[in-house]
Amino acid sequence: MLNGLMMDVPLSIPRIMDYAASVHPDTRIISAAVEGGLHEYSYAEAYPRIGQLAHGLVAMGVKPGDRVATLAWNGYRHFELYYAVAGIGAVCHTINPRLFPDQIVYIANHADDRVLCFDLTFLPLVAALAPRLPAGIKLVLLTDRAHVPSEHGLEGLLIYEDLLAGQPTHYDWPDLPETTASSLCYTSGTTGEPKGALYSHRSNVLHSMGAILATPDCYGTNSRILPVVPLFHVNAWGLPYSAPLSGTDLVFPGPKLDGASLFTLMDEQRVTNAWGVPTIWGGLLAAMRAAGRKPAALSIVGIGGAAAPKSMIDAFERDFGIAVNHGWGMTELSPIGAVSREPRSKQTVDQRIEARQSQGKRTYGIEMKIVDDAGRRLPHDGVASGELLVRGGFVISGYYNNEKASAAAFDSDGWFRTGDVARITPQGDLIIMDRTKDLIKSGGEWISSIVIENLALSCPGVAQAAAIALPHPRWDERPLLVIVRAEGSEVTREAVLAHVAEAIARWQVPDDVMFIEALPMTATGKISKLDLRKRFADYQFPSDSA
Ligand code: AMP
Repeated sequence: MLNGLMMDVPLSIPRIMDYAASVHPDTRIISAAVEGGLHEYSYAEAYPRIGQLAHGLVAMGVKPGDRVATLAWNGYRHFELYYAVAGIGAVCHTINPRLFPDQIVYIANHADDRVLCFDLTFLPLVAALAPRLPAGIKLVLLTDRAHVPSEHGLEGLLIYEDLLAGQPTHYDWPDLPETTASSLCYTSGTTGEPKGALYSHRSNVLHSMGAILATPDCYGTNSRILPVVPLFHVNAWGLPYSAPLSGTDLVFPGPKLDGASLFTLMDEQRVTNAWGVPTIWGGLLAAMRAAGRKPAALSIVGIGGAAAPKSMIDAFERDFGIAVNHGWGMTELSPIGAVSREPRSKQTVDQRIEARQSQGKRTYGIEMKIVDDAGRRLPHDGVASGELLVRGGFVISGYYNNEKASAAAFDSDGWFRTGDVARITPQGDLIIMDRTKDLIKSGGEWISSIVIENLALSCPGVAQAAAIALPHPRWDERPLLVIVRAEGSEVTREAVLAHVAEAIARWQVPDDVMFIEALPMTATGKISKLDLRKRFADYQFPSDSA
């Protein structure tokens, strides 16, 4: 083998901002601040603050490899932490504040966080949890002195802006090996304890480049992205890195994520594209319908984290002329694994809506295979479905300090088992059928809950839908459809079932429909099937069932 004669310069997170500050100095970062009002600055102005923060962290004793945790909304200070913490060789550990307090305590202790930086919103939460956090942890409030409440009860509380004040603006970023850990994010732990994905400088840079290549329309100096997807989970789909790399403006929405607030912020700030989970877009669509228009400059929405319902894709594409990018990903994949990218200009609106029901094509840097129960590869013929496994430079190679979970997560060739069941078409389109544990196994045949939910959501009067498997004396499991009616609707069980029955085989049609007020959600904004299964654990199917 002959080695290439090229420089071995490590891929590095702070060098992304170094690049952005010099090549895209005027590109904007606008934040709806937790303290109220808007904060706005440029990449050229953000970079020296990141340098000051790096000095401040070192001055307070943060060492390479230390975990610096965050409990914070999408905003400029959280963004600065992403860079400064990784830049000094420490690990930015983003914690999801929507997790149960016990899970937050578990995660902080499992990671052995040395510092916790948190927004004003989370003062009461941190005050309540403080005695159970790792011994000696330093607490930093993400605000300035003027906004610190007089009574906070936290001994030794540090103030973020004080850490930066007076520090030099230039930091001499060390040339860390590119495999150095940069950041840590735990899965939402819907089954068992949360598990940590420990990213590296290299994996994050590779992921950002893969993401930009996958949806180039989203990025660039004419684009302004609003990540509703949080910095506290799955790296806001890599946007804190891919936006600076590509010179894209960022608009951080802060704590207000309801449809009306998002509409106003997007409208006033002329946001061109916005990314988030389906539940968020339900709220925005309602605000758009109320206003009778879309936010002025909005032309693309990225939907992922859970299947984008056809009715939602239809509403964006047909009613408002907004392009939908449907993507699939996981915490363990940094997270973007696939995203839609058909040439929209060559498609009719019906073709676009149809095409966007698939989760798109794989990102550069990700390889995919689907396998049967014995681990044998299945063809990518659009028909065979099996567990989806992936490998690539931004896929985890193990969970952080968790040998048991790591041992179960890979096949004998080292591919990561996603726990999702999928089909892949000959053109490379990924179609996610379900989570393995959410599939409904009826009489030896599998029923996809996503297919049933999509059909139910296209029935007039249905606002939200979830199909769950419940035990059945004859068929092992049968589907129960749980529906939240749209406001003012009186849609009936019979109407919903008749609508669903129009498009699938009779044996796949749910046996019954239950109407409830609201669906339980997970900390990452997905429908919690686990909670639904618990809630309906005592349910008995009607005697004429299936
Ligand atoms: P998380 O690690 O919280 O991002 O959750 C990852 C899981 O979300 C995946 O394994 C899928 O089950 C699910 N998921 C993400 N995106 C999609 C999508 N577009 N369609 C269906 N399921 C999705």
